Amino acid sequence: MTDAISSLAAISDSHGGFVIDNTQVRAPKHGEVRVRMAAAGVCHTDHQSLQWDGPLVLGHEGAGWIESIGPNVTDLAVGQPVLLNWAIPCGHCLPCQHAHGHLCDRTQGLSPESPSVDSPHTLWRHQAVRRSFNLGTFSQYTLVRASALTRLPEHLALDEACILGCGVMTGVGSAIQSAQVQHGDTVVVLGCGGVGLSVVQGARIAGASTIIALDKRIESLDRASSMGATHTWRITDDGDALEAAAAHVRILTQGRGADHAFEATGSHRLAFAPLKFIRHGGTALQLSGAHGEVSVAMPDFWWDKRYLTPLYGGCHPERDFPKLLRWIDEGQLDVASMVTRRYKLPQLQAAMNDMLSGRNIKGVIVFDQESA
Ligand SMILES: [Zn+2]
Ligand SMILES: [Zn+2]
Repeated sequence: MTDAISSLAAISDSHGGFVIDNTQVRAPKHGEVRVRMAAAGVCHTDHQSLQWDGPLVLGHEGAGWIESIGPNVTDLAVGQPVLLNWAIPCGHCLPCQHAHGHLCDRTQGLSPESPSVDSPHTLWRHQAVRRSFNLGTFSQYTLVRASALTRLPEHLALDEACILGCGVMTGVGSAIQSAQVQHGDTVVVLGCGGVGLSVVQGARIAGASTIIALDKRIESLDRASSMGATHTWRITDDGDALEAAAAHVRILTQGRGADHAFEATGSHRLAFAPLKFIRHGGTALQLSGAHGEVSVAMPDFWWDKRYLTPLYGGCHPERDFPKLLRWIDEGQLDVASMVTRRYKLPQLQAAMNDMLSGRNIKGVIVFDQESA
């Protein structure tokens, strides 16, 4: 490939593993931008993607600097810091026209002017290789559509901003867009990892008066308190732990239950648990993207309860990312405290292991700028 750049990347093997190896990322064409990555957040979906059809350049959260731009790219310039976003609404399909751009029907790949069959964006061992969510951020360089990028202010640390594009957007957006938390509302958050803590912050920003955080870990509850939870309750390993938590929630909500309850545990067994915490007519939201069968006692749905499984916090990039950036500037949204550990790309396995064991709120891969 002419004008291709060599890029160290993590590539999945489709069987739960990956290799760190050199790839070639071609120069941007019409509507495309090549980005030099600064940092990339590690997400549970990255671990799941190790089983997807591969090989695949891993990673779908990140921030970096524009390295080169293709023809017909306006409003962007080489050297600018940018956030990468994996959901790119087309603006024309039925979901987009109904303000559901995050559910857009159209392919979100690279621009149609440069079909990857004729001109693969990335080569690995002389073969074309796909990039996770068309981003593939666990890589020194990536090639993306210009519309996948949001400009970042120069003063923002990219090893903190890099987590905005997935977990933070999902949590904050689920509170503000999907649940429409209002001033004075009561909110329960089950599971205080990266997504759950983002829900806590979103609910606080929306003006919720009572935010009850539930988790098994004391340190997670402490973090939730520091980010806006007004009450915490430790879930024990007892069989009736959820019922005990629900009873406590009712005490804190005048016997009714909360207006909204969010599940963000990553455990599909708890998919219906938020129904136990809400009042009649309240909203239960399941943010773990649960797979598999779960049974539920139908009285948990009584009466007029709504059950939502929001995708990506209803993300509308042009509307939502500027808001998140403004809230960071105003000190309302704390992403710095959510990045609890940084790793180099060759330590990706350790980053995944720490994520699976719950050691981090968010682990972040930082790229070696000297070698770039
Ligand atoms: Zn993610
Ligand atoms: Zn669309």
